[in-house]
Amino acid sequence: MLTNAHLSELLARRAQSETGHWQRALKKAARRSLTWPYEAHLLWAQGQPLQKLEGVGPVLSRLLGEWFEQPPDFDDWDPLRAHFLTWSMLSHPWKARGDLQMHTVWSDGSSEISDMAEAARARGYEYIAITDHAGGLKIANGLSTERLAAQGQEIEALNARSQGFVILRSVEANLAPDGSIDVQDTSRLDLVLACFHSKLRLPEDQTERYLAALRNPKVHILGHPRGRIFNFRLGLRADWKRVFGLAAELDKAVEIDCFPDRQDLDLVTLELARQSGVRISLGTDAHAAHQLHFMELGLEAAYRAHIPSERILNMMSAAEIKRWTARS
Ligand SMILES: [Zn+2]
Repeated sequence: MLTNAHLSELLARRAQSETGHWQRALKKAARRSLTWPYEAHLLWAQGQPLQKLEGVGPVLSRLLGEWFEQPPDFDDWDPLRAHFLTWSMLSHPWKARGDLQMHTVWSDGSSEISDMAEAARARGYEYIAITDHAGGLKIANGLSTERLAAQGQEIEALNARSQGFVILRSVEANLAPDGSIDVQDTSRLDLVLACFHSKLRLPEDQTERYLAALRNPKVHILGHPRGRIFNFRLGLRADWKRVFGLAAELDKAVEIDCFPDRQDLDLVTLELARQSGVRISLGTDAHAAHQLHFMELGLEAAYRAHIPSERILNMMSAAEIKRWTARS
C-alpha cells in the first residue's frame, strides 16, 4: 500500500519530469504530504475527496487515484527524501514539558514572544526557549548585542507575570567552521543553541567542524546537526559516532529539529546518538505560534529510536535545564 511517505517520494520524482506550474504543485504536495493528517490511501478507499489534503487539487487528486489503483514501481527513497517521518505515522505516548527552539518577530519569525508563550501554555508546556538568530545571520534579521539585551528585558517582564510558566532566554547562534559563535556575551542567556548555516553542501567529511563546535564552552546544544532539508539539501557528513561520543563526554546535547522539512537528526543518526548516551534536545524551529505542534514529529523520532526519556532535555523541568547549563 502506498503510504504518505511513499507519496512524498513519488510526487517529488514526478515533479522532476514536469515543468512550470504543475511541477511546482507536485513539489509542494510532496512536502505537504509529510504533514497530511490522514493517510491519503485511506481517504481514497473510503471514497472521500483527496482535496481535503493540503496542496491537493482536482488534477493531483486524479493522479493519486491512478497510483492507488495501479501502484507505480517503488524501489527506495532518494537520499534527499529518505528517513522523513510523516504526520500520519504518529503513535508515541510521550509529552514534552517544553520546546527548545523557536523564532519570533525579533528575527525571522512572524509571532510575538507572548504569542509563542500563550500557544505553548495551551499545549500544556511549562517552558519554552526563545532562540532567535544572532547578529552574524543577516538574512534572518539576526539580533545585535543591543537588540538581544532589549529582547531579554521583554522576556523578563513576561516572566515576571507568567505565574510559573518560564521563557528561557536563548539564541540560535551561528557557528563558524572553527567552532566559534556570533554572540560575544552569553552570560545573560539561560541556554545557547548553535548551528551551522553555511558551507552545508560540502561533500567531504566535516567531523572536525562538529568537534570544534562542541568544544566551544558557550555552546549547550548543537542544533539541526546535519543541515538537511527535504528534497533540497542532503546535509553534512561526519563521523557521527565520534561527534556524539564527544558530545556525551562533554555533556552537551544534540538536537532533533522537529520542523517537518528538517527532521534533523533522523532515525538513522538517532540510533548512533542512543548508543553514545548523548542528551537529546527537541526544538520545533517554529517561526509562528501555530507551528509548535511540530514537536510531535520529534517526539515520534526519539520514541522510535528508543532514546531513554531521561536523556531528553524536554522531559526535564526549566529549573533542571538551567542547572544543567549553569554547570557546563
Ligand atoms: Zn537554523
